[in-house]
Amino acid sequence: MGSVINLFGVASLGFTGITRSLIEQKVPEQTGRNIRLRGAQNSKVIHWDIITIGNLSRNRYWGESDERAIRSAICTCSVISGEDFHVIIDPSLDDEKAMGTELYRRTGLTPDKIDVVFITHQHGDHIAGLKHFMKARWLAGSDVASGLNNSASLPKQIESAEKSLLGTIEVIPTPGHTPDHQSLRFDFKGMSIIIAGDSVATKDFWDERRAYYNVKDLTESKRSMEKIDTIADIIVPGHDNYFFNLK
Ligand SMILES: [Zn+2]
Repeated sequence: MGSVINLFGVASLGFTGITRSLIEQKVPEQTGRNIRLRGAQNSKVIHWDIITIGNLSRNRYWGESDERAIRSAICTCSVISGEDFHVIIDPSLDDEKAMGTELYRRTGLTPDKIDVVFITHQHGDHIAGLKHFMKARWLAGSDVASGLNNSASLPKQIESAEKSLLGTIEVIPTPGHTPDHQSLRFDFKGMSIIIAGDSVATKDFWDERRAYYNVKDLTESKRSMEKIDTIADIIVPGHDNYFFNLK
């Protein structure tokens, strides 16, 4: 209450009757906003967590040129959990100890408790920690899977994902950043949440519907963002913290 009264600059007057009526009139004006959520209430997902918040190798919104990398990129890595499953998306850390530490710090899980690893697309920063999850199934869109199985020297094969993971998480094509890029969508407490991988780079890029500098197809990229805009309440981008998709 104190902070609200101070907000209107009348606390020092001591007229509690006046301040209360000011609050009643002003708070609804300032905060009243109806947001229609797009997700279902009944979902098998009981928890979701960001494991590492990603960053880009260069960021035009920080005044940096697109021309060259000035730091190493880490992707945003997340976990979706149900009663009987844990899915990690885009395991981000090459160092085994660091990957295990971040996973444990954010979820209490050890890597051997992960059932499925899902990879959104082939870029190296999104598979850096894949090798630390040898007990899990490795899944990706069919073209991503075959591309990686052919080009990367992985200790085991990546399988083609169906349209749904564990009957709960939708696999959604979001081409543009790469032609075969896939995102994941799930429901959680009435919200529709998209793990967008690099189809959305960061919140700033999203706000301008701008593709990252290394995008393969700008038109496709924009179309994918428009699709995400129609279905997502919360977006987990490839290289930033999650954010709400508010108009
Ligand atoms: Zn990428």
